[in-house]
Amino acid sequence: MADMCFPGGKRKALTLSYDDGVEQDKRLLDIMAKHGLKGTFNLNSGAYAPEGHVWPAGQVHRRMSKSEVTRVYGESGQEIAMHTYQHPDLTGLLPTECVWQVMRDKEALEDQFGRVIRGMAYPYGTFSDPVVDILKNCGVAYARTVQSTGDFFLPGDWLRLPATCHHDDPRLMPLARKFAGEERPWRPMLFYLWGHSYEFEANDNWRVIEEFAAYMGGRADIWYATNIEIYDYVQAYRRLHISADGRRAENPSAIPVWVRANGKTVAIAPGETAALT
Ligand SMILES: [Zn+2]
Repeated sequence: MADMCFPGGKRKALTLSYDDGVEQDKRLLDIMAKHGLKGTFNLNSGAYAPEGHVWPAGQVHRRMSKSEVTRVYGESGQEIAMHTYQHPDLTGLLPTECVWQVMRDKEALEDQFGRVIRGMAYPYGTFSDPVVDILKNCGVAYARTVQSTGDFFLPGDWLRLPATCHHDDPRLMPLARKFAGEERPWRPMLFYLWGHSYEFEANDNWRVIEEFAAYMGGRADIWYATNIEIYDYVQAYRRLHISADGRRAENPSAIPVWVRANGKTVAIAPGETAALT
């Protein structure tokens, strides 16, 4: 058995996922940077505010302009992901329209940030089997729903990706304490938190994320990663070639992979074969 560990041999990972590209993300990014948290920001590239404005002015849900979005997220070290071009309910669209909403957003974000964009969150959390099929064909690696599991299992279906919980879930801190308190996880654990940062202003509860970040940040046994980093790592683990006798593992991917085998933690470098005994 070559059990998956996260980078560095860790058994826990934490990621955040926040939607819509609203102005309050600036404060959230500061909190994340202060405590070393990583995550993903899901953007609608067809719904930016006019330059020099936030939109709609005076409301709590305020989108930023394109240049502001580029500046705020571009150098943040966080992942940029799709949230469709104009935030429609994808289950109500014709297939061609659904393809366009996804691919238009992907292309616009890739042009804007100069990188390949592969992650997504469903607008309104709505999806269907035909929508999932379209995403597969559009090269979407994972797509987050708004379902909460209250658990730390790794996703089985990355295109119907649930979260552990929303930040307003009353289970947030009990789950955080359960996650942080697990000293010898028998399996890899993922804490996946989602929300919208405008909700902190609407509910006047920035203390919720400040408390969570202060509690969960800076821990040696947690891997702080974006959604796509976790996705890519799990794929690299799954691609390992294991010998018939279980004594050797070959890593054909481009990233190092850590496993636990025979009571030891072993790092397998990209392109290398490692002994597991
Ligand atoms: Zn949204």
